[in-house]
Amino acid sequence: MGPRVVFTGGRVFDGSGSPAVPGDVVVRGDRIESVRPGGGTEPEPDDHVVDCRGATVLPGLVESHCHLTFPSALGHVDPSFNPPIDVSFFHRMPSPDEHLAIAERNARILLDHGFTSAYSAGSLTPVPTEVRLRDRIAAGLAAGPRMRAASFERDNNPVRMGPDGPAPQETGPDAVRAFVREQAELGFDSVKLLMSNDDVFFEGGSMVTQYSAEEAAAAGEQARESGVWLNCHAQAPEAIKRAVRAGFRSIYHCSYADPEAIDLLEAHKDSIFLSPAVGIMWANVHEGAEFGIDTAMAEKMGSVKSLEAMERLYPELRKRGLRVLPGGDYGFPNNPIGRNARDLELFVRLFGYSPAEALRATTFHGGQVMDLPVGLLTEDYFADVLVVRGDPVSDVTLLQDPANLEVIMQGGRFHKQAA
Ligand SMILES: [Zn+2]
Repeated sequence: MGPRVVFTGGRVFDGSGSPAVPGDVVVRGDRIESVRPGGGTEPEPDDHVVDCRGATVLPGLVESHCHLTFPSALGHVDPSFNPPIDVSFFHRMPSPDEHLAIAERNARILLDHGFTSAYSAGSLTPVPTEVRLRDRIAAGLAAGPRMRAASFERDNNPVRMGPDGPAPQETGPDAVRAFVREQAELGFDSVKLLMSNDDVFFEGGSMVTQYSAEEAAAAGEQARESGVWLNCHAQAPEAIKRAVRAGFRSIYHCSYADPEAIDLLEAHKDSIFLSPAVGIMWANVHEGAEFGIDTAMAEKMGSVKSLEAMERLYPELRKRGLRVLPGGDYGFPNNPIGRNARDLELFVRLFGYSPAEALRATTFHGGQVMDLPVGLLTEDYFADVLVVRGDPVSDVTLLQDPANLEVIMQGGRFHKQAA
């Protein structure tokens, strides 16, 4: 059985959305043994006791729109991947091993910031770097969040990044099916399609739906057959609708959902997850100037319009009970990996979430998108536990400063421990 770790003296937010209450969390091995509101755990001789006075105990955070193969992280900004201004990254691509080293560094940075799980929203290149990274983390060979790895995003339109971008793919249902099958065989957990294009890639791109209903349906059928999930970038209303009808599980952005798309999303709210990726939109509109994204550029990239549309859409989707998850396309120079907890603040400020609702979306719903026993502090779940100084349940901005993270535990092992 081994000795226990007993978190005591703090307030416990279990992730379910119930208010934080004083209590103990008891961990044995890699799992949570018990959660005791009110405390009073009978001591055992070998207990490792963690004094949580003045702090809150909560589940490890889950990033729902993660790009660990994007190069920029806090302290390691790489301006060569800053579309549309600079995509020279693709001209002097790192070797697969070099790219793995970058992704591994990013994974550690994300874990250092309290994210014990990460659901990928796509690889930057067709190489299965994320599969290798996921497996190395799972084997204990690298520090990082538990991962669900996603394929690189399949375009269905050769104009995406101009002549320097990835080679155009063949179109048609059979080509889509073949792509999904190949990515599943490479070991990815999910396959990502660009259901709509995006203004970032060419003007008006966000309203261009790139897959026919037949192609989307073919992706859905093949994904079920191959045992992988489907994710997509979708801005245009028709792109969203086709994705929902084809059985996509995670749908990103959705900025321009029309009333019919909203109703369709609501009708499928038990089977889909939405990640607005508001972090990148906010960064483009407010924090891009240093990297060439001034207001005019943010407008050209569609970020100004998209952010405004999200501020209208997501309060409505929140009311309708959709699972909308923080996770914000971190990995760009103006939105580096490590800043991910800022998404919770944006949910509160822009989408009308209470801080507790934003935390519940990041933990409970995060565990659901991972499809793993994480995201709740409850018996038999993995012991992914944070101890955060102060009360992040009323002020989620506390999560943005790693100095407030006194303890980061993952699967019962201390990644970070208070001095
Ligand atoms: Zn993304």
